[in-house]
Amino acid sequence: MDNKQAELPLVSVRSLGGTVAMTTAEPGRGASPSVSASDLVESIPALQGIARIDAASVAAVPSASLEFGQLLDLAAELERACVAGATGAVVTQGTDTMEETAFLLDLVWDRPEPLVVTGAMRTADSVGADGPANLLAAVTTAADPLAAGRGCLVVMNDEIHAARTVHKAHTASVAAFASPGTGPVGRVQEGRVLFQSTFRRTEPFEIPSGNGIARVALLRLAFAGDTVLLEAAAGSYDGIVIEGMGGGHVPTWWVEPLLAAAQQVPVVLGSRTGAGHVLSRTYGYPGSEQQLLGGGLIPAGDLDGLKARILLTLAISTSNDRDSARKAFEQRVASRTNTP
Ligand code: ASP
Repeated sequence: MDNKQAELPLVSVRSLGGTVAMTTAEPGRGASPSVSASDLVESIPALQGIARIDAASVAAVPSASLEFGQLLDLAAELERACVAGATGAVVTQGTDTMEETAFLLDLVWDRPEPLVVTGAMRTADSVGADGPANLLAAVTTAADPLAAGRGCLVVMNDEIHAARTVHKAHTASVAAFASPGTGPVGRVQEGRVLFQSTFRRTEPFEIPSGNGIARVALLRLAFAGDTVLLEAAAGSYDGIVIEGMGGGHVPTWWVEPLLAAAQQVPVVLGSRTGAGHVLSRTYGYPGSEQQLLGGGLIPAGDLDGLKARILLTLAISTSNDRDSARKAFEQRVASRTNTP
């Protein structure tokens, strides 16, 4: 290593699998994980001018099969790497669950160094593979002091998204990631990181042990839907998140079982619309947000159901206090500001 390289920031890269690490071994058999973290890094010579990289493969799975314990262990490992001198960290994984894993990492990340999650929409062996460009942009972001103090960021297609807003909004496009309602917080352009907005960070959660993870059900309201799943969930989960209709509404026949469930376990009320805050003081009819919140449901603010489930899971897993879930949402939703 020459002197110039020794002065570059040190970035830890950990791979979990996903399309970014997948190839198709035989035509017609479909892609599966096959590329290691160091192979990924070595395939991008431009990285050598940006950072010294410590790369390791942690798993080689499609992101649908990732689990809470794996992500929490990875957060702890990367925090240790930062304590030991890394100036930033990058996680490569599948895109299917990235909006949830990035938010989970964000909620526990207790370091000022940037933690960046990236992946790819096209396999490593496809024409126009986006993985190398995404990893280059992710390392560029993780190596930049401007990205410090912002928690976990998702970098895809040269856009930088806050973990708490990012959403996979297309099955196949390389521009699949969006932050509905807020837009990306920045971009990587001409090899530089440009930020246009900031989310204020809130107190991170202690990392719970993998064994003690609460079980939280996510239910989406559908036109004229019955309450069979709700009633099953009320008896068997530690918490429930519902994505209500519109501003946070349910059919009249949902009210009684929902309020009964809220007496047993924390029940969070979100919206299935995908953008905007749950209402709190607009409607008063049976099944309205006012009736549900008055009956003990916790408002999700503008977190969608997937993100609210991650937050509720951590809140229940890290505290026995009956009010911990409500406090976790009040603190993280009320304090959520987007300062340009
Ligand atoms: N289609 C996925 C991806 O983009 C597979 C996965 O999430 O692992 O990586």
